[in-house]
Amino acid sequence: ILSIRHLSKRFGSLEVLKDISFDVRKGEVVVVLGPSGSGKSTMLRCLNRLEEPTSGEIIFEGDDICQKGVDVNDVRKRMGMVFQQFNLFPHLDALHNVMIAQMKVLKRDRAEAERIAHAELERVGLAEREDHYPDELSGGQQQRVAIARALAMDPHVMLFDEATSALDPELVRGVLDVMRELAQGGMTMIVVTHEMSFARDVADRVVFMDGGVIEEQGAPEEIFEHPRSERTRAFLGEIA
Ligand code: ATP
Ligand code: MG
Repeated sequence: ILSIRHLSKRFGSLEVLKDISFDVRKGEVVVVLGPSGSGKSTMLRCLNRLEEPTSGEIIFEGDDICQKGVDVNDVRKRMGMVFQQFNLFPHLDALHNVMIAQMKVLKRDRAEAERIAHAELERVGLAEREDHYPDELSGGQQQRVAIARALAMDPHVMLFDEATSALDPELVRGVLDVMRELAQGGMTMIVVTHEMSFARDVADRVVFMDGGVIEEQGAPEEIFEHPRSERTRAFLGEIA
């Protein structure tokens, strides 16, 4: 569904991504690990064109989305993204946070947007909190609203950038459970996380990035039990 070929990104003289290549198949869950500053967020942001790659190709459902003339909004419709910060509208309750992009971007009518928002909020376990405003929800609940909002757009791929990193420890679980269910339901996902147990249990493949390159990738058992690279071993050693 996604093929990243020779992706490079530099900010001025700083080379943040150096010739990154990997593929994601439909239904696959790829977990991206790596130390701070290794380029994980930049890579995700290139995928949905929040950053302009310096060179390389990103083939998404058959088209190179780095070409000039590509409709970036169309790319973002098919690629949902969830960040560390939830970025909900503070003046809208949960239901309307999930409705608004459906109406504005997908031009769904109010009734349909509302029906879908109900269903997605129920899926993330927040059916009872629809009329709550963001400041009346815990961080974990806010993040689940953000996930519901992304899912309501019917994305073909979901990108998660440290979706649980800003949460208090006791709230992480609920968000990971939602992500796990999504994975089991067949969603194609690229997940940047420091949650090693999630990576082990849920990933079909783990990509380890360091210094802007893919240092190693493989099945989670391989990466965790038999890392080939010294740097992967060092990173996992520090985390564990
Ligand atoms: P973390 O685990 O801390 O989130 P990361 O792997 O996501 O790290 P990135 O955020 O992709 O790392 O950053 C990679 C490098 O690119 C860092 O050195 C960062 O300072 C640099 N960088 C990121 N965005 C910009 C920008 N807009 N301008 C200049 N440098 C940037
Ligand atoms: Mg990051």
